Parts: sequence; structure tokens; C-alpha cells
Amino acid sequence: KPAYERRFGLNSWGSSGKVPLGLKRKGLRIVVTGGAGFVGSHLVDRLIARGDSVIVVDNFFTGRKENVMHHFRNPRFELIRHDVVEPLLLEVDQIYHLACPASPVHYKFNPVKTIISFATIISFNWSNSHFLGGYSISANWSGLNFEFLEMHKTNVVGTLNMLGLAKRIGARFLLTSTSEVYGDPLQHPQVETYWGNVNPIGVRSCYDEGKRTAETLTMDYHRGAGVEVRIARIFNTYGPRMCIDDGRVVSNFVAQALRKEPMTVYGDGKQTRSFQYVSDLVEGLMRLMEGEHVGPFNLGNPGEFTMLELAKVVQETIDPEAKIEYRPNTEDDPHKRKPDITKAKDLLGWQPKVSLQKGLPLMVSDFRKRIFGDHNEADS
Ligand code: NAD
Ligand code: UDP
Ligand code: UDP
Repeated sequence: KPAYERRFGLNSWGSSGKVPLGLKRKGLRIVVTGGAGFVGSHLVDRLIARGDSVIVVDNFFTGRKENVMHHFRNPRFELIRHDVVEPLLLEVDQIYHLACPASPVHYKFNPVKTIISFATIISFNWSNSHFLGGYSISANWSGLNFEFLEMHKTNVVGTLNMLGLAKRIGARFLLTSTSEVYGDPLQHPQVETYWGNVNPIGVRSCYDEGKRTAETLTMDYHRGAGVEVRIARIFNTYGPRMCIDDGRVVSNFVAQALRKEPMTVYGDGKQTRSFQYVSDLVEGLMRLMEGEHVGPFNLGNPGEFTMLELAKVVQETIDPEAKIEYRPNTEDDPHKRKPDITKAKDLLGWQPKVSLQKGLPLMVSDFRKRIFGDHNEADS
């Protein structure tokens, strides 16, 4: 039996996801790497509410203390500033491994954002004089390359370390992989058995290939060392606490419409994505962790929208007068993306519940507060 099963038994606290009648479920000790980020912080809320003890491990590269601050007084909550690229010693029952910097690809379209991200990098690497030496060459590009490298290292070395940790302590390990492992897919919608169409040397490769390697490492530790693992392939997700300036399409459109700036549509806007509300994703991740199947599982909302259709929903939600501005698209941008979630439906009993029309307003009120401050919300 795998170490995890030996310690907890299959049904003692819920491999089935259910607590046997009359038995009080004992709280688990759980690490969430990247728990100060967008998805991680919502997951932490659910785990704490369930009665578990949670340790968040985060280097605040793209995450924020504000996302988890409401738990600071809770004795079942701990926050550790740590880079998962460095080894980590802890004793826990489950590891949700989410740590991964948000996609840097779009920064090149926005020099201001690149500079902001560069400032973050300087403070993050204050002692790295070699890196600071690169400043005079080209702030934008040295910043960008650095981020690509950081992302790759986190995905590969960070995942290796967390798997090493899981192996040593017999914890169950869940990897949050991504729909990007399918690359620019030649199969539509994407089923888990599809191997993908990824450019190994493109601008997006640090993310796509980094996550593909992370999946490989996860399966190697499962097959080679008997580590209990779970793999989720997450499709585009949105919701409150999303990074306002990370350049992703939903956060861009919402922030732009709120600020009365034109919404930037890349390319002809006919490329498609499927947008999942964050609470649906968190439910899927927890079912996957508690269930008996390794995966990989697609976790996403099959509702498919072109970027122009998304812009229309944002107009309807925020401002019917909001304008659209076309910009050139990034290299290797996937044309279509939509999950086939049959496997998650059948084996996890999971499917998303929140439509874009229902979820978007929840994100908008959070963005409104963060952009304008609380006092303006009532006025708008
Ligand atoms: P996010 O940027 O909000 O969260 C990631 C967190 O990881 C941040 O708090 C960041 O500070 C932390 N982090 C980054 N590098 C780290 C390191 N080396 N050590 C410790 N912490 C580190 O992003 P998110 O949207 O919440 O994504 C969470 C996970 O889900 C990621 O693994 C991401 O690849 C995956 N995912 C997200 C989406 C989406 O649409 N949001 C889609 C596919 C996959
Ligand atoms: N590791 C860790 N915490 C642990 C155990 C391992 O961070 O509790 C790291 C360790 O530093 C190593 C990686 O995980 O870099 C892989 O560990 P493993 O034991 O599988 O490989 P080895 O150390 O034998 O190369
Ligand atoms: N996109 C856009 N305008 C923006 C940001 C993104 O039209 O301001 C497009 C982008 O070209 C891509 C889609 O929106 O086709 C989704 O981009 P995002 O970065 O959100 O997610 P991913 O490409 O990782 O799926």
C-alpha cells in the first residue's frame, strides 16, 4: 500500500470525499504552495473552513499577503515566505502544489507593466549583483528573460523538491498543471489522452514545457517511488483576487472597462477560450485530491467564447460604452481551447456550476474595490 493509504486508510477521512456517519473527521495538515496567489488563496479558504490546518508556502512573486491576511489570527493557519526552488522540510498529510509565477508573456505589449514587473524582480533579487548588472543593457528584455527562467525553474526544480518532500513524509501530492500542455491544439475539444502540439523553443515554452516536465516528474515519482499523486490540467480561470495587471484577458478587459480605457483585443479576437469561475476550480481540485484517481483531469468550464464575445459580456456587465482596441497577437497564441470534462464528470462527479454571466460580476466588484478603494464602490 502507498504510504499515504497506510497512514490514513482509504475511507478514514475521505478518500471517498465523505466522512462516515457518526465519525468526526480529523483535521489534516496541508501545505499549499503558491497559497498567497489567486487560486491558492481561495483553496486555503475552503480548507480552513473544512477544519484543516494549512501551511501556505509562497515567495510572493505574483501572490499577495492581502489574499490570506484574514487567516492570520487563526492558529490553524501558517504562512512561510519560501521559494520552492530551495528544499523544504515539513511534516504534512497533503501537498497542493500551485506555486508558479503568472504568465509573463504579455508584458512585452505594455512597457509600463514590464517596468513594474522589473521593479518586483529587483526587490526579489536584491542581492543578485550579476542580475542587477543587466539593468543597463535593457530593462525590459533582461526583466522578461529573467522571468521566463524563474518560471521554468519553479516548474521543474520546485516540483522536484515538493515531490521529494512528498516521498520523504508519505504525503499525497497534487500538481496544478495547465491546459497549455496541449499547446496550440490540433484536437478540439481537448481530451486528457491528447498529447498536445507544443513548440519547445517558443516564447511560451517556459510555461508549456515547464508544466509538461512537472507532469512527467509527478508520474516518475508515482511509478518509481510510490508517491500518491494527482494531476489537474486547469483551463483559464477567473475570479476575485486575480492579479489586476498580469496581462491575462479577463483581468485586462475588466480593469480596462472599469478605468474607462479601451479593451485590448489581440489579433482578430476570434480565438477562443473557456472561462471557469474560481470556486468551481477549487471544488474540482479538492475532489481530485480526496478521490482515488491519479488523473490527469481537465478542470475547466466547457462554455467557449471568442475574445470579442468576452468583450461583449464585459460591456454588458460593466459599461455598454466600453471601447475595443485591436493589438497584434503574441507568437504561438493557441487559436482554440475548450476542455472535454467527461472524465472529471464520470470519475470525480464534478462539473462547473457558475456561468461567465454569473461569475463576472463577482470579480468586477472585487476589482472595483481594489482599483478605486472601498468608498467609491457605492458611487459606481
Ligand atoms: P498566481 O500567480 O496568482 O499564484 C501563484 C502563486 O505562486 C503566487 O502566490 C506566487 O507568488 C507563488 N510562487 C511563484 N513562484 C514561486 C516559487 N518559486 N516559490 C514559492 N511560491 C511561488 O496564479 P494562479 O492563477 O493562482 O495559479 C495557480 C496555479 O494554477 C499555477 O500553478 C498555475 O500554473 C495554475 N493554473 C492557473 C490557471 C488560471 O487560469 N489561473 C490556468 C492554468 C493553470
Ligand atoms: N526535498 C525537499 N524536502 C524533503 C525531501 C526532499 O525539499 O523533505 C528535495 C531535495 O532537496 C531534492 C528533491 O527534493 O532536491 C528530490 O528529493 P529526492 O529524495 O527524491 O532525491 P535526492 O535528494 O535523492 O536527489
Ligand atoms: N488577449 C487579448 N487581450 C488581452 C489579453 C489577452 O485579446 O488584453 C487574448 C490572448 O491573445 C489569448 C486570450 O486572450 O488569445 C487568452 O489570453 P490569456 O493570457 O488570458 O490566457 P492564455 O493565453 O494563457 O490562455
